[in-house]
Amino acid sequence: MRERIIIANWKMNGTLESARAWIEAYRTLPAAANCRAVLCAPFVYLPEIVERLRGTPLEVGAQDVNENPSGAYTGEISAGMLADIGVSWCIVGHSERRRYYGDTDNRVAMKALAAAKAGIRPIVCVGETLEERERGETQTVILRQLNAVLAVMMPASIGAVAYEPVWAIGTGHVADPETAQAVHASIRRRIELVDQARAMTLPILYGGSVTPDNAAGLFAMPDIDGALVGGASLKATSFFAIGQA
Ligand code: PGA
Repeated sequence: MRERIIIANWKMNGTLESARAWIEAYRTLPAAANCRAVLCAPFVYLPEIVERLRGTPLEVGAQDVNENPSGAYTGEISAGMLADIGVSWCIVGHSERRRYYGDTDNRVAMKALAAAKAGIRPIVCVGETLEERERGETQTVILRQLNAVLAVMMPASIGAVAYEPVWAIGTGHVADPETAQAVHASIRRRIELVDQARAMTLPILYGGSVTPDNAAGLFAMPDIDGALVGGASLKATSFFAIGQA
């Protein structure tokens, strides 16, 4: 059986007060039986969130990491620092990082490797833009992004892959389940070429306008093992409802 995982990505939203309120609200909800849940919060709130979630089933992740172990990288956070405070997951290669902060395929791969070396499960994001999809380049782009990661690490060290079509992120235009399934299946086939056993167990999550209403349709697909949730994760009850789905 593959792990089923839902991941909340708050992005650059909230305050210390709203983070505390979210956690209080989430803690009153019953733990989902067969689904792992991870909360990826802004760096500055992570220590407090780790403390508050200690002993609960909700796990904690970061939204990015620097690829270097330490040194003169003003403003950056290393994987060792994240591990140090008890963070166990980290998103790498989110399309917003690729687009606004120049994260190249190679840098994303180095970030994933740095996280894995520190004992943190990297959530590797891949996804095509609308223009790329319209040009028929979806497969090429996804495989290029994935191949960069597979060039530096084994699939066993990848915590999860998240397929996030850029045109679906924050737009309300969720990919239809069959469209997403086709990409998820091709990601799994690519992993199979390297490690057949890991291909069977690797969680491949979908991200992009997931809501409590459309989650069940996506999760019914054989290769969609969960979701990376942005907007709908800002409310604890909606995030929980996606886990229930
Ligand atoms: P969204 O974001 O759910 O708001 O579309 C998903 C993501 O960027 O991870």
